[in-house]
Amino acid sequence: MRRFIAKNIGFYLQDKIKGTQTIDTYKFLQSSQYWDQKLIEEYQLKKLKKLVKYAGENVPYYFDLFKAHNVNFKEIKSLNDIQKIPVLTKDIMREQGDSLLSIEQSKFKIKRGKTGGTTGAPVKVFKDEYNRSFTWGSYYRWFDWMDVNYYDKIVTFWGARTVLSSSFKSKLITNLQQYLQNDISFSSFELTESKLEEIVNVILRNKPVLIKGYLSALIDLANFLVKKKLKLDSLKAISSTTETLLPHNRKYLEQVFGVPVFDQYGCGEVSAISYECSEHNGLHINQEHVICEILDSKGQSLTNQSGRIVATDLDNFVMPLIRFDTGDLGVISDKKCNCGVNQPLMTSIEGRAIDTIILKNGAKVHGVFFTDVLFELNILSIKLQRFQIYQNIPGEIEFRIEKGSKLNEEEEKKLKKAMLRFLNKVNLIRMEKLPVSKSGKFKYIVSEV
Ligand SMILES: [Zn+2]
Repeated sequence: MRRFIAKNIGFYLQDKIKGTQTIDTYKFLQSSQYWDQKLIEEYQLKKLKKLVKYAGENVPYYFDLFKAHNVNFKEIKSLNDIQKIPVLTKDIMREQGDSLLSIEQSKFKIKRGKTGGTTGAPVKVFKDEYNRSFTWGSYYRWFDWMDVNYYDKIVTFWGARTVLSSSFKSKLITNLQQYLQNDISFSSFELTESKLEEIVNVILRNKPVLIKGYLSALIDLANFLVKKKLKLDSLKAISSTTETLLPHNRKYLEQVFGVPVFDQYGCGEVSAISYECSEHNGLHINQEHVICEILDSKGQSLTNQSGRIVATDLDNFVMPLIRFDTGDLGVISDKKCNCGVNQPLMTSIEGRAIDTIILKNGAKVHGVFFTDVLFELNILSIKLQRFQIYQNIPGEIEFRIEKGSKLNEEEEKKLKKAMLRFLNKVNLIRMEKLPVSKSGKFKYIVSEV
């Protein structure tokens, strides 16, 4: 019944309300995945030209940048011409702030977000409805590759919209949305033994075909199943996100759940970059939505060799991100995949392995947990440029803030109170300068446990 509702009502209703076209985009992507490379590249070039034209005319950062580098959309004649545009780093994003936003913001249905990552302060990211249509459309196409329908029963371990208790109204909307989309979501962050017991009962009752979410949450769930000698036999696939899926993680999850594991890659700034197919040879680049480059330290393009993953989001006009340096490493292979999808494979993705913090209940969380809390408290970015969480005793943290931060006493209290829900002890300290690691890299999560 809920499957029927989701297929015929839920997802269409969501598109109507949010102004997106995820289902139409999904149907388009189902056919475009078999296009030959020439056709896909023509499609990419058309989109790139449109984006460069729009950014040059409506986004202050690009207006100045293109002027300084003599870039004009008319000179983008092939995909290689993208190299005329300088790479956009996270530091530039942080410095430029709102000048990366379109002056026509009111024209879009914007979704605001923030990004975590391994280094530096989080950055605010804006996405429009075109972007969300392609992100979700390609996500549903990925479900096809897992032999799952997007309207099937799915369990999600997500980051927390709801780390802190959200309002009754937003809870109601979330629940309704989940009902209509046949999805059951749990927070990845408070997976205590008793919570897991509850969750496993819900899973056994609801028989999902797919469980997806943060790798650390999937591992917690797997550990619990092993301990209790339980099996989930309704599953077809497991999919993991956010943290690097290492070979031993994959092996363990496949052993415990008895189904294949599918990995995906994307970041908060540019989502839906690549997805693993049923052949498990690597992750197919979502070429209808991104132009992906691998660059060496001099900015030269690489194939079959590891380098920096630089991605251009072809579908975000409210905050165009052209040649965004993800800070992650990867390889684009020229090997063909047997699954029939023509898009190139990305392999050996590294860089998402980040330190974790142990909460008072023993759960391990990564940096996104803290940026989520700060975001919900509305003190991210403007008030607090940089912070660092340091831990050497499980359940306790040092919350380090730079001297210049504009947090007032009230906000500090609020922050400490929120943190104490999850930790036994929180030392809020101000430092002249936040320490960097031996390699000189700033990490906002430092664990010495
Ligand atoms: Zn494939």
